[in-house]
Amino acid sequence: MTPATDLPPLSALSPARLDWRRDDSGREVPYATVFDDGYFSRHDARLETEHVFIAANRLPERFAAWQERRPFVIGETGVGTGLNMLVAWACFEAHAPPRARLHLVSTEKYPLARPDLARALAVWPDLAVRAARLIAQWPEPVAGVHRLWLDARVTLDLHFGDATERLERLDGRVDAWFLDGFAPSRNPAMWHPALFAAMAARSRPGATFATFSCAGVVKRGLAAAGFAWRKVPGIGRKGEMLAGEIASPPQDPRREPTPWFTPPVSPTPRHVAVIGAGIAGTSVAAALARRGVRVTLLDRQAPGAGGSGNAQGALYVKPAAQTNLQSRVYLAGLLYSRRWLEALDPEHDLWRPAGVLQLANSDKERKRQANFLARHSLPENVVAGVDAATASARAGVPITDGGLDYPLAGWVRPAALCERLASTPGVTLRRAEVTRLEKAEQGWALGLSDDDSLHADQVVIATATQANGFAQTASLPLQPVRGQVSQVRLPEGAPELSRVVCASGYVTPALDGVLTFGASFHPNQTDTQVRQADHAANLAELERTLPAFVAALRKAGAELEAHQLTGRAALRAASPDKTPYAGPVPDAAAWRADYALLAKDATRVAETPGRHHRGLWISAAHGSRGLASAPLCAELIASRICDEPMPLEWPLVDHLHPGRRIIRDLVQSKSR
Ligand code: SAM
Repeated sequence: MTPATDLPPLSALSPARLDWRRDDSGREVPYATVFDDGYFSRHDARLETEHVFIAANRLPERFAAWQERRPFVIGETGVGTGLNMLVAWACFEAHAPPRARLHLVSTEKYPLARPDLARALAVWPDLAVRAARLIAQWPEPVAGVHRLWLDARVTLDLHFGDATERLERLDGRVDAWFLDGFAPSRNPAMWHPALFAAMAARSRPGATFATFSCAGVVKRGLAAAGFAWRKVPGIGRKGEMLAGEIASPPQDPRREPTPWFTPPVSPTPRHVAVIGAGIAGTSVAAALARRGVRVTLLDRQAPGAGGSGNAQGALYVKPAAQTNLQSRVYLAGLLYSRRWLEALDPEHDLWRPAGVLQLANSDKERKRQANFLARHSLPENVVAGVDAATASARAGVPITDGGLDYPLAGWVRPAALCERLASTPGVTLRRAEVTRLEKAEQGWALGLSDDDSLHADQVVIATATQANGFAQTASLPLQPVRGQVSQVRLPEGAPELSRVVCASGYVTPALDGVLTFGASFHPNQTDTQVRQADHAANLAELERTLPAFVAALRKAGAELEAHQLTGRAALRAASPDKTPYAGPVPDAAAWRADYALLAKDATRVAETPGRHHRGLWISAAHGSRGLASAPLCAELIASRICDEPMPLEWPLVDHLHPGRRIIRDLVQSKSR
């Protein structure tokens, strides 16, 4: 029972409308024409940032003294050009001890276009290296959370959308606030009491704030939300500004309707065992290792030997025509995977941003796509409706149908990717099957197939169809789905496909002269023998999707008969609602007891927070879209384990919660 959410359709945000003016030193600085206000003080933007936000939050001293294993978190209300964030990063590097980490969270309703961002930041040569990291990863203007890796120790979450709305959906807590935004007189809609209340509810005890404004509405709003403010000397033409703190933040009210999703709290672990070395497990292992957690990655097979073992896989999503939480998760996942792959492998050795075309080659699909385009208006770079001529030009082969084009999507070498992730420093790969998983006095005891055993502080289960094979996870339904891909070596001179093309199946551009297409889809079949019947079905689907391409391949001499094809079959795992499971493992029996009243009356919500198998996590049910979902789910689990802000808004975090079905079954009185 996810609470009613008012998530709007997927849409592009309005870009910032700028004018360029000169500041007092002759530097070219952006000016917001709509708000009739500058992004920076005309006097000296750097000095203003240092004085108003950095010094008034006492960041140099606090960074220098930071000994916690979790990152120090800064929250901001308008990222603008990112100058404040870049200066905070530089200050962190100058003052923080080597093991400290910094997490930046900033909202933005009118994101700058990338060229404007580059132009605005070009006036600060000493920030050029940092600015380049920001500009390279600057997200598409899509509402939601966009996680950027600024460097090994510094993460930036851009929460695109209105500041109040985004902070109300932030799942994380802040140590220091930069209360920026155009002046209250120019932008009264932002400086609303609800904004200060959202900041207060997402503050750590003792969180500080600073703002250039001394307006009455700001003082009253802060005080009403529980912040103590004082006037301190301002800078430039501004005589005074405000700074202060919140001693005891209020309880975050959002858990009241869904106490079961209250996250468990445990100390940050030193050692985590990750079971399963497919894309789900290897991406969790790498995400934890990046945070300085030692990881033992366990699998009886080599990394990527199961469902993630194909030579090529499509990085794609298929958002529903209706706005729903699942589509939002997958869209966020696609955008995250894309940035993550670029950061991991800028040489494009493990993946290619070739783009994905989803053809509308049936009446049903044409209708679905038309509905989707009518409801949602995403940036063209994310998804655009294309006619047959454009589809043909982009794919490099004749196509008779139009469709949806995803220029940012592409294909990945999943097995090679898993191997790369498994070799992340800090991850030890161990070839063994986990036969026993028991709670120990501290942490978990794992029995291994080689008669050895292992102790870990926490455990992440990422074994696809076998993920519910442990007593603690037995209540999570998972359906195996057999899938077989087909492959053919192409002769010299064969036509080349330049996009991944999907319809009922998919075909990827050839890799090393081999064309891969598929995959068959057989729910509840668990054998992994390669079958000629599946090859024949994959071939028939390819001919139906791209008849001219197949004819040209044959003409060029490709051996395209079912008995000539090679291939590979593997199992994927799916949940009943087709959303992955990503999060803590619920204690199903405790949930059924604690929330039994829901079966009688769905409005009777007990206050008890959800009881979980402490320190046990799961990332599974990624189906055939794991390349879009697993890396973001890995980040979500690692963020929770390490007590960091989450990479998704809380309704989406809850939507992925492995316990969601227990509640749904109780409400529908289907509990066993
Ligand atoms: N901190 C910025 C920097 O370092 O460049 C400068 C911020 S600029 C003065 C104010 C920013 O707040 C603009 O980028 C503007 O688009 C954004 N903004 C204004 N109203 C907003 C709202 N309601 N929600 C989120 N962002 C908003």
